[in-house]
Amino acid sequence: MTDTPDKPLKINFYNTLSHAVEPFQPIDGRNVYMYNCGPTVYDYAHIGNFRAFVFADILRRFLELAGYDVSQVMNITDVGHMTEDNLADGGGEDKMEAAATRLKEAKKSGAAPVENPDDPYQIAAYFTDAFLDDAKKLGLKIATEHDTHMPHATAFVQSAMIPMIEKLIANEHAYVADDGAVYFSVESFPAYGKLSGNTLEKLRGGAGGRVEDSHQAAKRHPGDFLLWKPDTTHKMKWDSPWGVGYPGWHIECSAMARSVLKQDVIDIHTGGEDNIFPHHECEIAQSCGSTGHAQFAKHWLHTRFLLVEGKKMSKSKGNFYTIRDLTDKGIDPVVIRYELFKAHYRSNMNFTMKGIEDAASAVQKIRGAAANFAAQAGDEVTPVENDHPVVKRFLENLADDLNMSGALAVVFEFIHDPAEHSSGPAESLAVLKKLDHVLGVLLKDDVAATSGHDEAEVLCKQLDEARANKDYAAADSIRDKLIDLGYDVKTTKEGTVATKRLA
Ligand code: AMP
Ligand code: ZN
Repeated sequence: MTDTPDKPLKINFYNTLSHAVEPFQPIDGRNVYMYNCGPTVYDYAHIGNFRAFVFADILRRFLELAGYDVSQVMNITDVGHMTEDNLADGGGEDKMEAAATRLKEAKKSGAAPVENPDDPYQIAAYFTDAFLDDAKKLGLKIATEHDTHMPHATAFVQSAMIPMIEKLIANEHAYVADDGAVYFSVESFPAYGKLSGNTLEKLRGGAGGRVEDSHQAAKRHPGDFLLWKPDTTHKMKWDSPWGVGYPGWHIECSAMARSVLKQDVIDIHTGGEDNIFPHHECEIAQSCGSTGHAQFAKHWLHTRFLLVEGKKMSKSKGNFYTIRDLTDKGIDPVVIRYELFKAHYRSNMNFTMKGIEDAASAVQKIRGAAANFAAQAGDEVTPVENDHPVVKRFLENLADDLNMSGALAVVFEFIHDPAEHSSGPAESLAVLKKLDHVLGVLLKDDVAATSGHDEAEVLCKQLDEARANKDYAAADSIRDKLIDLGYDVKTTKEGTVATKRLA
C-alpha cells in the first residue's frame, strides 16, 4: 500500500452503480487503476466515440494533477462485437465480418482503404492506425502508450478469455448449451441488473425488446449471454475446449482489464451511456463470477451521448463526423478536443459549428495568454504548487464530479486578469501550464514563443532589430514571413511575440 497524495483533494464522482455522487477513494493509496472501453476498429471513430475517449483522458489527467499515479487501459475491439449490441445476448453479425463485406463492395469501386477487404486483420490494423492518429492529434495520452496499455482483443483470446470462460464454467456461472455455445448463466449471479436496472425478471419479460429470440431454445434464461461461439466459418477463429470459434464481446473487456491492469478489482471503469447495458452489466457478472470478488470496478462513470445540431448523429442524416471530416474543413484537432470536453460529461452534448467557433476562440485566448506570459517571463521560472489559489479552485471544480464549466470559468477569470491572481508573468505561466496538464490545449510554441531556439524566435528577434534600426521595410517583410508561416504576430512592450495560428 502506498501513500495517498500529501494533501488529498476531496474528490466526488457520480457512480452509475449506486446512482449517487460518492467520494472517490482508490483501493491502493495513490495508485488508480482505470479501464476505458475503447474503439471497435471496423471504421473511423466518430466524434461521439471521441467524446467518451476525451472524457477518459481528462479524468486521467485530472487525477494525475491531483497527485495520483494512474494506470489507464483502453482496449481495441477487433473481434466479437456484434451489430445488434444493444441486446442482452448480442445479436446480428460480428462487426468486423460486416465491415469485410462492406469493404469488399467498396473495393469494386476502388474505395476500400485496405488491400484485401476479406482479411479482417487488415481492416483492424488500418482502422487502429487511423484511430491512434486521431487520438494523438486530440492529445489523448493513452495513444502514446499504445504498445503496453491498449490491448487488442484478438491478442488475448488464448491467454486470457478462454481461461476466464473455463473458470466461469468451473464456478458454475457458465454452461455449454445444446447449440454448442458457452453462455453465462444470469440466474447464477443474483446481482445481475444492479448497474442498469435490467433485472432477471425484466429480462425474462423481454426487457423492452432487449433479448434476442434466435438462441432462446438453447439457453436456460432469456438473458443468458454468449461467452464463446463455436463457428468454423468465422473469419477470425481460435481453438478452444468448446470447438473452433470466437469469443463474445463482453468477455473481452473483463479478461483484458484483469490481464493488463493485473488487478481483480479496479478503481474506475468508463464508457459511453450505451455501454451500461448489456456490456458493463455483463462485464460485472463475468469478472465477479470468475474472481469471486463482490466488486469488479468501484466507480462506474458513463458519458452521455453527443448529439449533432440537436439531432442523433447518423450517417443518413449527413451529420455524422469523423475527426478527419472536421480537420479536412481546416479545424484544429485541439479545438475539437476543447469542444468535446467543455460540457459536463453527464449531460448530452450538442455539437455545433457555432460551438466549434467558440471553442476556437477559447483555445486562441488560452494560447495567446500563455505566449504573452512566456514572452514577458523570459528566463524567469516561478514554481507553482497545487495550493496556488487558481490551481486549487480549478482542481476543486474538477473534484466536484468533473465540473468542467466551473473549471473553465476559473481559467478565463485568471487569464482575463492575471495580475489579480499572481505576482508576475513567470508565476502566471506556471499556473497556466499546471491547468494545461488537464486541458491539453497548449502547444510548445505557446509557452516558448520567443524563448525557444525555433524559427519564430529567430524571426521575432530579427524583426525587433530591424525596428530598432528603423528599417521598417525589413521589419514588414519579416512580419509577413511570420504570418506566412502561420503565426499571429503581436508587438508587446517586451518585443515581438509570435503565436501559432489556429486553423
Ligand atoms: P464502439 O466503437 O461502438 O464500441 O464505441 C466506443 C465508445 O464510444 C463506447 O464507449 C461508446 O459508448 C461510445 N459512444 C458511441 N457513440 C457515442 C456518442 N454519440 N456519444 C458519446 N459516446 C459514444
Ligand atoms: Zn468494453
